[in-house]
Amino acid sequence: MLNIVLFGPPGAGKGTQSTRLVERYKLVHLSTGDIFRANIKGGTELGVLAKSYMDQGQLVPDEVTIRMLESEASKTPDAPGYIFDGFPRTPAQAEALDRYLNGKETGITMMLALEVEEEELRKRLLLRGKDSGRADDQDPAVVQKRIDVYRNETEPVRDYYMAQNKYTGIDGIGSIDEIFDRLCAAIDGYKA
Ligand code: ADP
Repeated sequence: MLNIVLFGPPGAGKGTQSTRLVERYKLVHLSTGDIFRANIKGGTELGVLAKSYMDQGQLVPDEVTIRMLESEASKTPDAPGYIFDGFPRTPAQAEALDRYLNGKETGITMMLALEVEEEELRKRLLLRGKDSGRADDQDPAVVQKRIDVYRNETEPVRDYYMAQNKYTGIDGIGSIDEIFDRLCAAIDGYKA
């Protein structure tokens, strides 16, 4: 299996690139942000809970997120591999993901980390807020909170995969095509 963690701060371009990678490598896309948003739209209990955190730029509690992710993954037992987008976002999530995949006799192949500096992230998120209607992209205080939460709670996940020699940093500045080519080069280099 080819299991990729696509990592990076909010606004780094994970969602955009995931869509393309899924097509090229025939992987299943698991985006915790997308799953939460679908639950909010559907008015489920999980959606109501997730919204109370997302609106503040905070992480949804690990226990809830991990359970949801495992339940989504188990819907596609025959997947040739996954792109994990927006997950894991804490070391506890990373450990849970390893345990889950190990139980299926597989594991994470690599982490691809999109690198974009903070000023650019702020610009992109506020711009996306204008087009997408995502509430968490429209308020500068919430955008800043998400960037801070990323630095404090999510960045340690990078060290987790670095320690396993699975980390590859990718320059996240450039056109969508350029960044996609960089990601593909990293994946193809690994497979070769
Ligand atoms: P972005 O990375 O652009 O902020 P996402 O769609 O990945 O957007 O996430 C939106 C929000 O959903 C996050 O700010 C957080 O509140 C929640 N969320 C998404 N993934 C996770 C996760 N793995 N753990 C906890 N909360 C999450």
